[in-house]
Parts: sequence; C-alpha cells; structure tokens
Amino acid sequence: MASNGALDARDRAATLGQLATERFDVLVIGGGVTGAGTALDAASRGLRVALVEARDLASGTSSRSSKLIHGGLRYLEQFDFKLVYEALRERDLLVSKLAPHLVKPVSFLYPLYKKVVERPYVGAGLVLYDSMEGTRRPVPRHRHLSARGALKRAPALSPDRLAGAMLYYDAQVDDARHTLTVARTAAAHRAVIGTRLSAVGLLRSADGERVTGARVRDEETGRVLEVSADAVVICAGVWTDLMHELAGVQAGYKVRMSKGVHIVVPRAAVDADTGMILRTEKSVLFFIPWGEFWIVGTTDTDFDGDRAEPVASEEDIEYILAAANRVLARPLTRADVVAVYAGLRPLVDAAAGNGGKPTTKLSREHVVDVPVPGLASIAGGKFTTYRLMARDVVDAAVADFDREVPGSVTDQVPLLGADGLAAVQPAAGRLAEDYGVSRAVVEHLLGRYGTLATEVLEKIRSDAALARPLAPGHPYLRAEVAYAVTHEDALHLEDVLVRRTRLFIESADSGVSAAADVAAIMGRLLGWNRRRRAAETRRYLDLVQAERATPAVNSVPVPGLALAAAR
Ligand SMILES: Cc1cc2nc3c(=O)[nH]c(=O)nc-3n(C[C@H](O)[C@H](O)[C@H](O)COP(=O)(O)OP(=O)(O)OC[C@H]3O[C@@H](n4cnc5c(N)ncnc54)[C@H](O)[C@@H]3O)c2cc1C
Repeated sequence: MASNGALDARDRAATLGQLATERFDVLVIGGGVTGAGTALDAASRGLRVALVEARDLASGTSSRSSKLIHGGLRYLEQFDFKLVYEALRERDLLVSKLAPHLVKPVSFLYPLYKKVVERPYVGAGLVLYDSMEGTRRPVPRHRHLSARGALKRAPALSPDRLAGAMLYYDAQVDDARHTLTVARTAAAHRAVIGTRLSAVGLLRSADGERVTGARVRDEETGRVLEVSADAVVICAGVWTDLMHELAGVQAGYKVRMSKGVHIVVPRAAVDADTGMILRTEKSVLFFIPWGEFWIVGTTDTDFDGDRAEPVASEEDIEYILAAANRVLARPLTRADVVAVYAGLRPLVDAAAGNGGKPTTKLSREHVVDVPVPGLASIAGGKFTTYRLMARDVVDAAVADFDREVPGSVTDQVPLLGADGLAAVQPAAGRLAEDYGVSRAVVEHLLGRYGTLATEVLEKIRSDAALARPLAPGHPYLRAEVAYAVTHEDALHLEDVLVRRTRLFIESADSGVSAAADVAAIMGRLLGWNRRRRAAETRRYLDLVQAERATPAVNSVPVPGLALAAAR
C-alpha cells in the first residue's frame, strides 16, 4: 500500500477499503509469480492496479518449483529454441540487473556415460545454449571435464562407467521470496495487493457485454466485496479453467496439470561442490544446492486431485531415489529425506488438442486469451519468463482501452532490494558493527532482502531480542518474523514458516518447534490474545499433520509435533 512497497498485514482493513471503493484500471486475479509480475507490469506503466490472491502470495505453484531461473537445456532437444532464447535473456537480466540479490548463478555438472557419442551431442547443445545468452554474460560459459575432473567436483558420483562430464551455468532463486518481492515492487508503484481474497464471480456491464470487475470473498471473515476495474486479468495458474467457468466464457485453451515432486536431503548426504543434472528415461533429474540441503527432483505426471495441496506419492519418492541412486556411490535412502514437496505445472493444452501427449512433451510457452471484452487470461510459461508473460497479458488487457497506455518498462525496473546492492555488499562488515550483529547475519539478510536488509536490522535495533535465531541450526532470525508481518503481508504462521522462511522444507520437524515462538512474535504485532495464538499454532500443526498423513512423508520423523501440540 505504501510507496516504499511495505505490505503491512496490520493495514488489511485499509487495503480492503481501497479495493471496495476505488476504481482500478486493471484487476489481477492470482498472486503467483505471473499475477505479481502482471501487477508490476501494469503499475509501472502508470495504471491503477489491484491484485487479489485467494490464499497467500506464492502459495500455489510459485513456491513449489525447482527454483531455477534457466533456459531449460532439455527444451533444446524439443527444438523449443524461442523459449530457450527468451528464458536465457530473462535469466541474464534478472542476475545482472533486476534481481541480483535474489537470482544467483549456479553451476551444474552433467555426467557423461557414453564415451563416443554423448560428449559431442551434449557439448553442441551447450555451445548453442551459451551462444543464446546476451552479450553481458553474467554467468560463465560451459566447460568440459574428464572423469577425474568430474569426480573432483562431485566425489559422490560412482566412478563406474563415468566417462567425463560437462559443467555449465544457470541461476537459482527462492521462488516464494522472489514472487513476494515482485508484488512488493508493484506495491511500490502503488498497486493495491490483497491476500486471502478469492474472486468468486465477475462483474459485467449493464448490457452484459464487458467484464467490469470481480466479486471477491474475504477468506478471513467471509465478507464479500466488489472490486471495479476496466480490465480483469486472470493469472490463476492451475485454477485458470475454473476461473473461465466462473466467468462463463469459452477460452481458446485449457490448462493441463502436471505434478512435480522434489525431495530435500542434507548437503552432507551428497558430496559435491556443484549442482548436478542427470538424464532420466523421461526427462532430467536435478540436484540443486539449497543452503545446507540439496533439492532433488523432479517428476512430471498428469494430475487431477486437489489443486490447493498436491501431495507426493510413494511412487514419486521411489522414482526420485532410484534415478538419483543410478549415479551415486552411496545411495540415498528414505532416512536421508528431510522433506518432500509437490507442485503443479499449469501447462497449456491448446484447443488444437494435445490430448494424449505426455506432459513432459507439452511446450512451456505461454498463451494469452481475451475471451470477452474486459477479461484477459494467461497460462503456461515458466517462472523464468514471468516478466514476458506479464508484458504480453497486460498488452492484451489494455488493447481496447480508449486511452493511450505506454508499453512495458519492467526490463528497466529493478525489484525492491536490488538498487544500490553493489555498494551495500562491501559494507557488510560495517553494517554488522553498526547493528551489533555478526557479519554472517548481515550476509544472510543481504542474500534474502538485498538493500532492504537494513529494514530488518532496524527491527533488531529497536528490540535486541529479535536478533536471536528462530530455530537452532537455521539462519533465520526472529526479526524476520516481525518483518514478515510489517512488510511482507504475513497473516498466519504458515506464511512465515512455509514461504517467508523455508523452515517447512528445511527442518526435519517442518518448523513445528518454532511455531509457538512465531505465534508469539506475530501475535504481538497483530493483537492476538492467548486463545488466538493457540488457535493459530494449532492451524499450523494441522497443516503439518495433513502433509505428514500422506504416505510419502509418513516415514519421516516429526520430533517436535507432539511437544508443540501440547503447549
Ligand atoms: C515441480 C515444478 C518445478 C518447476 N520448476 C521450474 C523452474 O525451475 N524454473 C522455471 O522457470 N519454472 C519452473 N516451474 C514452473 C513455474 O513454477 C510456474 O510456471 C509458475 O510458478 C506459475 O506461476 P503462476 O503465477 O502462473 O501460478 P501460481 O503460482 O499457481 O499462482 C496462481 C495463483 O492464483 C491464485 N488463485 C486461484 N484462484 C483464485 C481466485 N479465484 N481468486 C484469487 N486468487 C486465485 C492461487 O491461489 C495461486 O496463488 C516449475 C513448476 C513445477 C510444478
């Protein structure tokens, strides 16, 4: 709401008031990366923008991806050159200019097992991949490694049959944090962002010809309000077909849901100083470095279950372990698995009919449609290309406006926290002294908030207790919980433990032992009494228990669950 982009959860009533009373140029439905990007694109063109998200920002697919900002090496094999080219350009723009604090280069080792044919084939692909980059080259070129060289970088690999490797570079991101930062940057351009607000109907002009806004239900209270806008843009990911139904329109495409599962294992379980990518029968398997962990995945299977909480199956986990163990000297076992998460790819099944095509073969390009005046929708694409998706759907949404709307400028709009980063990074030591914290703490905050780290540090200045870690063995501070409420629109424990921090997937107890402390910090700011704090804690434990009830994660112990439930 404020022009510094702070999304203060304590201002929720004022946000709802604005949504109900103002008239907007563009109303965006959905707060994943596509919706947040669309809000930023439109707001930075000078339009008055509102965004409503049914749950929390990034609570859908945009917190459950492989967290790679990449061209997608495997799409070259499908001759999807345009997609790879565009994605690599976006990757470079994000790493070098738009979000260097969030999007960071990462290397991948591609082990080779067939002596003669594989190296020239993969090598040619990587030459093409590298040549599609822009001229600024913010990530290094690929390199050839011998089998010995490969084992030096990744001693975890079994030397059996290993013929050598390629080393190439892409980039990675905390997807939920990035999405949140895009939404905050939109707010800095005066977009009004409201969460736990579900679009439950669309408004039409008196003659029924044009969509003029949406009826929105406040999921916190059940109250329904009307948001008026000249154009509504549906960015609802795997909920897109449902939104089209709700609008009573026939769109030119359908969305096919493809489930992707990842497991999280400790860094020590796989001895390697680089990420890895392996070929599998159907697709590829990544080992992605993630702080003290590896994220290993993913799967790609058709899905028709509950969109809100997709869960992994036993087969998913077994598939990932088996694929990983094909190349590892010490096999991964279920005991290594700290967490499991599943996400749904919103793949476009063009009306032309991709019917029986396996989801691995469906293009990751996006589709924009304007099924009725005043309503545009977008689906497909990739996290990496969200900015282009946003540009295209805003262009479509404003095409029939009776006033001139400028073109997209988001290639020139760094996300909040990026501006001035180069000057702040070298000053980490001085900041640590100024705020009385360790250099490691400052570096942790810079890596998550960029130059906004000083806003988190200010919390510590005014309350030294907030400098304490949130959970033993994890880098997050209590100050980050307070900041999540006052600047990042966190309304419930889940928002903090699953998405603002990633304790849900990074701790063996899914963040359960930190839940009561998070409730206390949030409760102080949001005015929760004892009963409400207990109810909020219970709500989080229920979420963890539901997740644990699935067969795939049942065998993973949750040491703190009973203890915290008893508090
Ligand atoms: C396993 C997996 C791995 C992936 N890995 C990568 C990767 O490494 N790199 C990459 O580039 N891409 C990757 N992707 C793709 C990428 O994650 C998605 O393309 C992207 O996150 C989709 O974002 P979205 O905003 O379109 O959808 P979502 O993030 O799902 O957002 C849609 C939002 O709409 C909201 N919504 C729905 N209905 C309503 C309503 N009625 N009212 C209000 N809000 C509503 C939902 O709550 C949701 O938050 C991956 C995807 C998966 C599943």
